[in-house]
Amino acid sequence: MNKPLILIVEDDAPIRNLIAVTLEAHDYRFITAQNAGNALMEATSHNPDIMLLDLGLPDMDGVAVIQKIRTWSNIPIIVISARSDDADKIEALDAGADDYLTKPFSVDELLARLRVTIRRLNQTQSDNSDSPVFTNGSLRIDYAAGCAWLDEQELHLTPIEYKLLCVLARNCGKVLTHKYITQQVWGTTWENNIASLRVFMATLRKKLENDPNGLPFIQTHVGIGYRMMKVDHPVCS
Ligand code: CA
Repeated sequence: MNKPLILIVEDDAPIRNLIAVTLEAHDYRFITAQNAGNALMEATSHNPDIMLLDLGLPDMDGVAVIQKIRTWSNIPIIVISARSDDADKIEALDAGADDYLTKPFSVDELLARLRVTIRRLNQTQSDNSDSPVFTNGSLRIDYAAGCAWLDEQELHLTPIEYKLLCVLARNCGKVLTHKYITQQVWGTTWENNIASLRVFMATLRKKLENDPNGLPFIQTHVGIGYRMMKVDHPVCS
């Protein structure tokens, strides 16, 4: 993929400038928008590869922007939101955002999120979406056979654990909310399911991350949800 074009949507000028300067210094291409109206216009006219979206915009709620964009585009959207607004982040992720950054964020954090997103974009482009096999580091899932392996050893998963693993794998790189996951696994979102989700996630992780020196496959986002990370690239520490 060529240098991705990033659309920065932020009404707060100092933050917008910080992001712009950071992207410029790291050789990214970018365009900016100060409100939702401009953001939608820029998104349709320039077809950017990634969108950084502040949720608190003067003319429209950020979540409404995501809902509009999602009617025609799968562009990765990283929302930018204040720490106290977990409910907003959850709403944004459920509306179709891919990831979130919490204000105040560091430049390193911003760059790390962009790298994850770009890796995922490249992966999606090179993937044969018809492929019945998913691989991520030492993990392999054969969707057709309904089995998963770790280091060539078959994983003995319960049906719920397997379903959970597939939901995470099919959305690898994306933060999924508790609500989204429980809907996918159980078809409902009762509070009981969220409690069960924690239990099944714990047993799944025990089976999946049994190597103390191995990289964790699953990230916990406290109060929000979970994400499967791509692990077959060396991780810089
Ligand atoms: Ca704002």
